[in-house]
Amino acid sequence: MIPVTGYKGAQVAVLGLGRSGLATARALAAGGAVPVCWDDNPAARDIAEGEGFQCRDLSRAGAFDGIYTLIVSPGIAHLYPKPNPVVAAALRAGVPVDNDIGLFFRSVATPAWDNFEHMPRIVAVTGSNGKSTTVALLHHILQEAGRDSQLAGNIGRGVLDIDPPGDGGIVVLELSSYQTELARALTPDIAVFTNLSPDHLDRHGGMGGYFAAKRRLFAEGGPDRAIVGIDEAEGLFLAGQMSEGIGDDRVIRISTQHKLADSGWNVFAKKGFLAEYRKGRQAGSIDLRPIKGLPGAHNHQNACAAYAAARALGLAPRLIEDALASYPGLPHRSQVVATMNNITFVNDSKATNVDSAVKALGAFKNIRWICGGLQKEGGLEPLNAVASSVSKAYVIGREAAEFSMQLSVDAEVCTTMEAAVAMAVRDAQAGDTILLAPAAASFDQYDSFEKRGDDFIAQVQACTKI
Ligand code: ADP
Repeated sequence: MIPVTGYKGAQVAVLGLGRSGLATARALAAGGAVPVCWDDNPAARDIAEGEGFQCRDLSRAGAFDGIYTLIVSPGIAHLYPKPNPVVAAALRAGVPVDNDIGLFFRSVATPAWDNFEHMPRIVAVTGSNGKSTTVALLHHILQEAGRDSQLAGNIGRGVLDIDPPGDGGIVVLELSSYQTELARALTPDIAVFTNLSPDHLDRHGGMGGYFAAKRRLFAEGGPDRAIVGIDEAEGLFLAGQMSEGIGDDRVIRISTQHKLADSGWNVFAKKGFLAEYRKGRQAGSIDLRPIKGLPGAHNHQNACAAYAAARALGLAPRLIEDALASYPGLPHRSQVVATMNNITFVNDSKATNVDSAVKALGAFKNIRWICGGLQKEGGLEPLNAVASSVSKAYVIGREAAEFSMQLSVDAEVCTTMEAAVAMAVRDAQAGDTILLAPAAASFDQYDSFEKRGDDFIAQVQACTKI
């Protein structure tokens, strides 16, 4: 655990008592603060009280009397689509609003670091898609290289839950826009921006707000090294803002669309090959095509970002290449879950938005595509650009009929996963890929993308058993 410093004896309110909220309360208490907790869900409050934390209804008048600061969980929308009343009350009372990420960056460095031979380094990754894959890949590379690495943030473990990094320790953080938007301190040594496409627009008041939230990772204090995907206008803009000129190698530019061989520091992937150029000279080259855990150009973008971060941390290209080859992949992201009669079943349940589904469809051929769910803003039109790789769509979700009408491919309304898998298996021929890439959230049917992916796996297992 990272004890939170700077709040000794102060009452700090914690709103939202999920995994990160509880970890925050513990870390605050460990640093001598007095957490005052609240969650609308009584079961969550019971757990906190069971650990000895006091709970107070923060929506009551005067609830912020004596409170030094308010820590908000990432699951709570603070401003859009409408202001959260507790957050608004704190602001009216003049109480600063922060989150666990802000506390982490203020507290992680301790006087013990002065005696370290190698300063711990913090790498933080944000972007619309590919964050989890990039951080998991970087963590894997670091571990394979014998470095002391810890993985935390949006990917699973609360940031305040990790062990204090030791001499030469590296912390790899996945940060969502919800997390970067609120943190009052954001000072990674290396910051990574993978890409940007419309997502969570209701929470950020539109695309500009969404980009602004992610950009804060690069603004507050400024990282020593920025690794930026420049294939979208926003990334190109950010890279330009961070550097004094093309040769300024505080910025490493990433692309899967352009060969970047100018005088800067660049990592790009074309036709399945990764290349690193620095000051106009090639410094590394890796064939990514045989790596099972990283299919498709989108994963090659993630490989470029993780490679660049590993290079910025001083690892040699050969070491990184060896580690990439053994990357096992993450569940629910381009995960091959079964093969039968030369039909491959791929679980990409994490494709919760249109852009990620477009990328998943681009990574395979002869696809029987299981998609559908609760549509997000922005429409499904971009999916039609990759329709040539789809033989047929099998649409799930309560809005399956409306969803299927917007697709340009042959589509069958299946509604349930069970029906979708059964019909796809019925139609499939040797050489086909049955791919779950919903392009939508599925809160009408599942609590999480993991549950949706698990259901897909269960249905596939039921069909492939015989
Ligand atoms: P995140 O943590 O940002 O959601 P993940 O690595 O979990 O990213 O991948 C989420 C989904 O996005 C995956 O299912 C995959 O289809 C897609 N994806 C992965 N990497 C990229 C990328 N670089 N660009 C676009 N889509 C991607």
